[in-house]
Amino acid sequence: MTWLSGTTEFPLDHLPYGIFQHGPGDGRVCVAVGNEILDLVACADTGLLDSVDREVLRTPTLNPLIDLGPDAWQALREELLQFVLTASEPSPGLTHDRDSAQLLVPIKAPDYVDFYSSIEHATNLGRMFRPDGEPLLANWRHIPIGYHGRSGTIVASGTPIQRPAGQTKDPTADVPSFGPSKKLDIELELGAVLYRSKKNDPVSVADADQHVFGLVLVNDWSARDIQAWEYQPLGPFLGKSFATTIGPWVVPLTSADRFRVDAPEQSPAPLHYLDSAERRNFDIHLTVALQPSGADCAEVITTTTSALLYWTFAQQIAHMTSNGADLSSGDLIASGTISGTKAEEVGSLIERTENGKFPITVAGHERAFLEDGDTVILEGRLGGPTGPSMGQCIGTISPAASATTTETRNP
Ligand code: MN
Repeated sequence: MTWLSGTTEFPLDHLPYGIFQHGPGDGRVCVAVGNEILDLVACADTGLLDSVDREVLRTPTLNPLIDLGPDAWQALREELLQFVLTASEPSPGLTHDRDSAQLLVPIKAPDYVDFYSSIEHATNLGRMFRPDGEPLLANWRHIPIGYHGRSGTIVASGTPIQRPAGQTKDPTADVPSFGPSKKLDIELELGAVLYRSKKNDPVSVADADQHVFGLVLVNDWSARDIQAWEYQPLGPFLGKSFATTIGPWVVPLTSADRFRVDAPEQSPAPLHYLDSAERRNFDIHLTVALQPSGADCAEVITTTTSALLYWTFAQQIAHMTSNGADLSSGDLIASGTISGTKAEEVGSLIERTENGKFPITVAGHERAFLEDGDTVILEGRLGGPTGPSMGQCIGTISPAASATTTETRNP
């Protein structure tokens, strides 16, 4: 019998990494175990860990640990597993209550790329944004489509999300206007946290796993009215860059490995540099819950899985390094919105409400898009609804800046 108790959400062999605030200016690496967090600095101080330097653990980001590379991650994980699975004596000061711990944003991402890898989502959006054309553009099945996001606006779970202002144009109006977004939305996504590669040395699909530290929940908040007006010809910009929330826990690839499944077949076969004999996705049960402002509880509005993504993380990594660009430790890539085929399986409100035309009722409140005071909670469970947890990725909408006034001017 071990001293630490695992739970279904955080069993002893799961051990996702996070960063917690131990005191002012004292961010530390921790892992989640049951209802507690294990302070890895305290573990190092008591001689329980010696595979990595204490200073790598006493930092407010996982980046220094990630930068040590796969052999060091494996050594640390083996030490941790050995400890949590066999520790028989309670050791004071090593753990803290998980619910009351202040968890910080776990990485400082040098670069952030958001992909568009769910064929169901891309098809749904294509139909709405280009009703007269083919839903999938000609390149979609050949290239993992993506755009560079704004890494500086990645925030920790729980950070309030201020409603963005921006330029929009109502299709029925002759001129654009400026003001608070009226179509604030979510995007349910799975992120991968990366390990560096060499410049001008593309990472192959087969080697890509060597460059993934772990998986994290991502909510790519999106202002659909800003996005619709700005996105052609160069893609998303201010409709996305105001905030991206990531979950508190980064699940090590070695913990997620058990939950891989074959990815759907690709047709046509991609070019050689994107092709591989084995294409695997992670089977993660994903949910979105919404607590409307004024409601006394949250209601699950979406249940889906990452098992069906068309493009895998390995293909995305091979693609994004194929031009000679390198990866930095702590880079974040995200899958793109994850949607299934049914209404209750889509990862955004624009799909669920058909761009606001058909509002849904959530906990007794009607919603087309997000209102001020609404709270969104993403959750991920590996392998199914009762599997190990990725924690919760939460954000509450706060009102647009008070100085923001709507402006419309005739040319
Ligand atoms: Mn996105």
